[in-house]
Amino acid sequence: MNPKIASFLADRIPATPCLVVDVDQVELRYCELEAALPLARIYYAVKANPALPVLQRLVALGSCFDAASWEEVSMCLEAGADSSAISFGNTIKKVSAITSAYAAGVSMFAFDCDEELDKLAIHAPGARVYCRLLVENAGADWPLSRKFGTSVEHARALMLRARDLGLDPFGLSFHVGSQQTDTASYEAAIGRAAMLFTDLAAAGLDIRMINLGGGFPTRYRDDVPEIDQFATAIGRAMTKHFGNALPETIVEPGRFIVGDAGVVSSEVVLVSRRALPGALPDDAQESVRWVYLDIGRFGGLAETEGESIKYQIRTPHDGSALGPVAIAGPTCDGADILYERSNYRLPLDLASGERVELLSTGAYVSTYCSTRFNGFAPLAEHYI
Ligand SMILES: *Cc1c(COP(=O)(O)O)cnc(C)c1O
Repeated sequence: MNPKIASFLADRIPATPCLVVDVDQVELRYCELEAALPLARIYYAVKANPALPVLQRLVALGSCFDAASWEEVSMCLEAGADSSAISFGNTIKKVSAITSAYAAGVSMFAFDCDEELDKLAIHAPGARVYCRLLVENAGADWPLSRKFGTSVEHARALMLRARDLGLDPFGLSFHVGSQQTDTASYEAAIGRAAMLFTDLAAAGLDIRMINLGGGFPTRYRDDVPEIDQFATAIGRAMTKHFGNALPETIVEPGRFIVGDAGVVSSEVVLVSRRALPGALPDDAQESVRWVYLDIGRFGGLAETEGESIKYQIRTPHDGSALGPVAIAGPTCDGADILYERSNYRLPLDLASGERVELLSTGAYVSTYCSTRFNGFAPLAEHYI
């Protein structure tokens, strides 16, 4: 576990549940990605963790930002980002959000359909726009397909139409899915985007940007490839398709930048045994040990949906005998189960009242927290 966070927890013993984020670790990851992909400009995906200390540190490092709403645009501006460093990357935007962002100087917007293009033409005239392509999300633990992106054929027509509407259709984007563990997914997506890029350039469009999206993984329970392996695959594909005439390249990492900078400290509320469905209530062989924490699906661990993201859990008894467990949150909702089928094992000595830590919870936790479900206060956050 991160030593800075470990000593913060030991010294301060903050009330649980809480998220502790080491902002120096955020910087480390940013610099690591910058070194791995020196030709790409980093647009941090704000939604992964929009906390002011994170945004301020990234502004100081020269990062650009990918915002999904006017509120996220405002947070970036408040943190000191220049409006020219902000991309409004959500393909689904309220007119009021487009208007506010455009008035604030944001001039880079994503789209993937005619209807959104019409909104941009009216409310952000002349803006730089880029079209999101639909690509394979195989290999991603948290896929982002279906809802976003369009076909190469449709994107081609959209880009030409964007020019006719007086916009500056300057690039293409894709997202290979979050927590993507297969480097080949970037190569395939780059190939698809490059084909259209070349085609549009031949059609006379002043196209000059490729946005590779996010997806770079954080290490949770299982190993993932190193960032250098992704960089190598990306570099190889870019050179193969563009030669020396590399377009302006953008990446939009979220999880990779903040994921392993955060630790959730949680209290064990209850340890009990529950009979398997169909078993007699007092048959120990037919029961499962359940550990209930004071954080669950509604306290911020939304990505445990479908047991997709598998956080590592530290306990005061690590190293002692383990046994299988189901792990759940504290609310009165039956869906508030974190892990039942993922073969989690925790120390047999673990007891209620003890504290555990969920590692690599810096991304997609603080903002997924519900506000007052069952009366529980929102997740406390400490940035150190
Ligand atoms: C969520 C998102 C990202 C960040 O994805 P990660 O998997 O966290 O890196 C980047 N771009 C867009 C458009 C997104 O929606």
